[in-house]
Amino acid sequence: MIDEDKKRSHNERMQRKKAVVDAGIERAQQERGIVLLITGNGKGKSTSAFGTLYRALGYGHRAGVVQFIKGTQASGEIIFLHQHAPQVQYHAMATGFTWNTQDWDKDKAAADEAWAHAVRMLADPALNLVVLDELTYMLKYNYLDLQAVLEALRNRPPMQTVIVTGRAAKPELVELADTVSEIRDIKHAFKAGIKAQAGIDY
Ligand code: ATP
Ligand code: MG
Repeated sequence: MIDEDKKRSHNERMQRKKAVVDAGIERAQQERGIVLLITGNGKGKSTSAFGTLYRALGYGHRAGVVQFIKGTQASGEIIFLHQHAPQVQYHAMATGFTWNTQDWDKDKAAADEAWAHAVRMLADPALNLVVLDELTYMLKYNYLDLQAVLEALRNRPPMQTVIVTGRAAKPELVELADTVSEIRDIKHAFKAGIKAQAGIDY
């Protein structure tokens, strides 16, 4: 049983909270697309990007996806996309993980080719959302020129939102992004010896 004093102070606290939220809503008057960066070492970056993609598709928004690192295993979100949302433009980098190929020139050519698709999407005002999955690695390993990437992001159509994922995001990318979330690795089942699972990990 909560006594009257506690109820009153709870109501007052909620009222103050509402005032802060209302002031925030009042302040947020701009309407434009954003750059959303999801980085950090924890699990949940790509799945978050695809969660937002499915949220956008719910409103009939148009979208494009470029994946900059392609594993040998097709991931569930891409299988679902091909089956249920074939209208989404999709391109995957035509090489395996960099630590498998160990061929910088081949990786560089694949990165350039994937980036050309990204450039096309970033110039298309019909696309409400562009997902650049694992783009950060292309910058970390210097496969793509940082300034060229920043420029393409800056010059995109004003209403277009871009989601960039990957670990070790460059500070310049953090600076440019409007929303940045860092997912922290607290623990991961794989490190405890549990196999990666279809539908959860890929
Ligand atoms: P997800 O695609 O599950 O959202 P992610 O995009 O955050 O993961 P990536 O670095 O792209 O993470 O790696 C993808 C794969 O690596 C997934 O199978 C994921 O479960 C696994 N993974 C992600 N973070 C970790 C971690 N901290 N330790 C071990 N495995 C991880
Ligand atoms: Mg990922």
